[in-house]
Amino acid sequence: MPTHSKPQTQRPEWLIGLAIMAVVGLGYFVGAWLGVTQTISPDGNAIIWPPNAVALAALLLLPVRRWAWIIPAVMVAEIIADIPVFPPWAAVSFGLINLFEAFLAASLIRWLTGPRFDFDSLARGGYFLLFGPLLAAGIAALFGAGVYCGLAGEGSEYLAHWQLWWFGDALGLVLLTPLLVIVTRQYSEMFQAWTRRRLLEAGALLLLLGVMGMVLMATAAAEEPGHPLSLVLLLLPVLWAAARFGVLGAVALVALVAATAIAWTVHESWPLQDEDPEGTILALQQFLAVTATVGIGVGLLLDEIGTQRMRLRLFERTMESINDAVIITDARRHDDPIIWVNDTFETLFGYSRDEAIGRNCRFLQHGDDHQEGVREVRDALRRQQPVRTLVRNYRRDGQPLWIELSLAPVSDSHGRVTHFVGVQHDLTELKRAEEELEHRVAERTQALQEANARLTQQAATDWLTGAANRRQLMRQARRELARAQRNGTPLSLLCLDLDHFKTVNDVHGHQVGDQVLKQVASTMQQNLRPSDLLARVGGEEFQVLLPDADNQQAGEIAERIRSALHDLEIKLNDKVLKITVSVGCAQMGQDGKDIDSLMRVGDQRLYEAKALGRDRVVTG
Ligand code: GH3
Ligand code: MG
Ligand code: MG
Repeated sequence: MPTHSKPQTQRPEWLIGLAIMAVVGLGYFVGAWLGVTQTISPDGNAIIWPPNAVALAALLLLPVRRWAWIIPAVMVAEIIADIPVFPPWAAVSFGLINLFEAFLAASLIRWLTGPRFDFDSLARGGYFLLFGPLLAAGIAALFGAGVYCGLAGEGSEYLAHWQLWWFGDALGLVLLTPLLVIVTRQYSEMFQAWTRRRLLEAGALLLLLGVMGMVLMATAAAEEPGHPLSLVLLLLPVLWAAARFGVLGAVALVALVAATAIAWTVHESWPLQDEDPEGTILALQQFLAVTATVGIGVGLLLDEIGTQRMRLRLFERTMESINDAVIITDARRHDDPIIWVNDTFETLFGYSRDEAIGRNCRFLQHGDDHQEGVREVRDALRRQQPVRTLVRNYRRDGQPLWIELSLAPVSDSHGRVTHFVGVQHDLTELKRAEEELEHRVAERTQALQEANARLTQQAATDWLTGAANRRQLMRQARRELARAQRNGTPLSLLCLDLDHFKTVNDVHGHQVGDQVLKQVASTMQQNLRPSDLLARVGGEEFQVLLPDADNQQAGEIAERIRSALHDLEIKLNDKVLKITVSVGCAQMGQDGKDIDSLMRVGDQRLYEAKALGRDRVVTG
């Protein structure tokens, strides 16, 4: 919306009201004057009564809050037009009856068709014909006929007056109201629609009408009737007008025919001339009413078909151009066959239209129908409910597609489901990307877990010998200590130190020393139970945690280790290297209650062993 708009000059309501009164009043007066002076048959009956059409058109076009302005306009115009012919009481009565007719018709029509009335759909045209010419005019005629009987006095026929009034009013409404409403509503579109070809066509139509009119007149003028042109043939140009120029064209043409026919009848040369003048008028009225109704009906019908066809094209074009596959199935036929698919369906699935139409949608699953989504779809189809779910469908070449399927039932006017519309949105790429991501995340997680395990292992292990390190020993010792105290089982600790290891390094080098340390650790390990824990706690110092072992058992194990090392022959190129170990044992309970005390005592005994000459075990 533009940010600045011209301030709307609000015209005062009374000015608008006066304008409405002037236009409607003048129109009504002209209509009434024409009715009273120009359509009166030789015996004094009006064939058509046009002014009510002016009043009804005004009521259909104006907002309800301005309806009141119509009342004085109609009353004044009616009285002025009637006074020369009718007494004042009759003029006032006619005015009131005509107002009643127009207001009744307009109220009913607008109540059922909404605030903005136009002859743009079959329903609106139908309501107009039903409530205007048929109902309101018929009811008003009941009162009008009463006034006529009052005027004519005794002996006049009420029913004949009623019929004449009804048909005259109905004709006026049928012929003029659509003309006035359509011209007011659509005049700008109408001017744009006039091309040279249409003008030529309108000319040809009028020429045909003129020729038919002349033939009719000639036949009517002839003394011998001969072969009069059937009036039914007049329907031909009316249908032509309806087909090519819509409701307006049809009504305009019938109005022209009506004007001519009325003029002829008034001058007694109409082909429907009868012995009885009232019969003549009735026949003419009926002929015109039928022609006009057929013209309006056909015009509306063709308009409606045109509009629907346009909507259909619009929707079909929309469906074609969307990026999802669209499928329509017929729920009324056995096994819900596909009746329509769009272009995207063909490109997505690789099936042509002809291959898909007539089959049930399940062929897209290639037999893979044990899916949660497919179950949901079946359920929704059975309950005739909309559903949105994920299914795996297959291309013609067998490639699977992940489809987000939105399925909606379509019902007819009785609420019966007749079709299902399925929109299939391809999620395959998205799904693939998601799976790839999940796969990569899983891979990464595994690598991380492995690295973590390695780190934990490394944090607990001595890098050179693979034995536990001091931290791991301390952790395990605390656990075992608590367990031993809880269960009352024994626990022992061995402290080991290789004898004269410095010499090994000095003579053979540090690297050889490392090799020796590895072999020593492995030999020690071989002489331990699986539940024992060997740890390297310093350069060439080891400790062993012995659960469930008392002093004596610890001494035995220590001795086993010592003698194994004693006997061990470490081969170095051409030489053989020998190594010994000194061991101190400590037992929980008698040598201390915590791990530090056990280690202290164990170390003391180790030194004792060293002092006693090495290669030996000292126990408590
Ligand atoms: P003792 O019988 O009194 O224990 O004599 P020792 O020579 O073994 O003396 P000590 O236990 O004090 O010696 C420690 C020596 O161990 C010093 C160093 O040469 C050697 N050593 C310590 N850590 C390592 C190591 O990681 N690798 C090697 N190759 N040698 C080490
Ligand atoms: Mg040492
Ligand atoms: Mg040593």
